[in-house]
Amino acid sequence: MDWSDSENQKKFRTEVIDYIEKNLPNYYKKLKPPTGLESGDWQNFFVLGDKYQKQAASDWMKALQKKSWVAPHWPKQYGGAGLSSIDQFILHQEMAFHDAPSVGGQGVSMLGPTILIHGTDEQKQMFLQPTLEGKMLWAQGFSEPGAGSDLASLQARAEKNGDNYQINGQKLWTSRSHKSNWIFGLFRTDPDAPKHRGISFFVMNQNSPGLSVNPIIDMAWEHSTNETFYENVEVSSNNVIGEENRGWYVAMTLLDYERSNISGAVHIRKRINELIDFLNKKENIIFNYLSSRFRSALTDRYIESEVLFNFSFRIVSLQSKDIVPNYEASVSKIFNSELSQKISNVGTKIFGLYGNLWDEKTAPMDAYFTREYTHSVVRTIFGGANEIQRNIIATRGLGLPR
Ligand SMILES: Cc1cc2nc3c(=O)[nH]c(=O)nc-3n(C[C@H](O)[C@H](O)[C@H](O)COP(=O)(O)OP(=O)(O)OC[C@H]3O[C@@H](n4cnc5c(N)ncnc54)[C@H](O)[C@@H]3O)c2cc1C
Repeated sequence: MDWSDSENQKKFRTEVIDYIEKNLPNYYKKLKPPTGLESGDWQNFFVLGDKYQKQAASDWMKALQKKSWVAPHWPKQYGGAGLSSIDQFILHQEMAFHDAPSVGGQGVSMLGPTILIHGTDEQKQMFLQPTLEGKMLWAQGFSEPGAGSDLASLQARAEKNGDNYQINGQKLWTSRSHKSNWIFGLFRTDPDAPKHRGISFFVMNQNSPGLSVNPIIDMAWEHSTNETFYENVEVSSNNVIGEENRGWYVAMTLLDYERSNISGAVHIRKRINELIDFLNKKENIIFNYLSSRFRSALTDRYIESEVLFNFSFRIVSLQSKDIVPNYEASVSKIFNSELSQKISNVGTKIFGLYGNLWDEKTAPMDAYFTREYTHSVVRTIFGGANEIQRNIIATRGLGLPR
């Protein structure tokens, strides 16, 4: 199989690299390697950053808007770039390689394409352009205290009240809702229907009266996720995406977009190469002589990162045939999340006692692997736990009985 670029792809790659090098704000260039779940996240800077971070996020958004590269996968008529799947892959590859954040968060990557499939013309008008411009920033309200893997058991209710719905209940793990102004979520509209059928997909303003957000602080002492509470929140029936009680199918479209992450492979490959360069540098003499145990672990991770790269190509090749990746996205999600944990494990252990340092000034490689060691734990849980992805592969991929 020949993965090399065609002449046109080479030209596009050069255009992307030039543009990133000229337009990526210095603030992002200085952030290498981005540590933590939050620091490389565009929305974090755009909403919660200091004035320099906000400026960098806004400059980068404007630069991408000029090329319509905020949403390279959306059709041109809705403000996207309408790029082919392979050109999108090239763009994502180079953005990841240059640690240039993608812009617009879950609204651009997942909700936009879902509205394009299931939304009315009026909803496309209302939500797509403001999402592209960073005016609507989105959080995802699916999970609840009693509904994670078994999402269809969700209990938060939306009861019809004239032209509106009245929403009550709780959502859990609503990442980024403290830096979003809109939220999409699933609520039960028919408690008597079989559990997958009585659910509708809503979008709502987070400033709606009765909606409140409580922080959850993780084991790295970072705030990336929340619990959200709904007490008699009024939402218009125009804010239901797709048909009432058919929200489960809308959500499944969205989750397929969530799991087909193709930038992960580039990030992982880059971090391994940086680790190898660091270990080979003469000034890092105390790390120059690795035991054979670490050498073979590092070699295995390197090979696995190439395998992950090929899984990404598989996803892209399906997308280029207009097939939404399904169990293939689950394969890639499992491999990606487990590999990121294994790499942070090796990276931390190689540094021995230095691996305990969290201080970016004294720790090797700015404490990247130490931080990743804690951050990567959740990667096998969010976006659907890996055990659930294995069930998807078993049933939809291998055709095994449930
Ligand atoms: C950091 C973080 C961010 C998140 N962000 C969001 C967000 O923005 N929005 C959102 O809606 N949700 C979010 N989630 C929620 C995430 O999707 C759920 O945590 C995940 O789906 C698992 O659900 P649960 O936590 O309820 O665990 P459970 O479903 O209770 O699972 C517990 C364990 O049992 C296993 N298990 C459960 N059922 C089965 C089964 N049928 N077969 C085999 N094993 C099974 C699971 O794999 C897991 O190991 C986030 C979670 C985390 C940790």
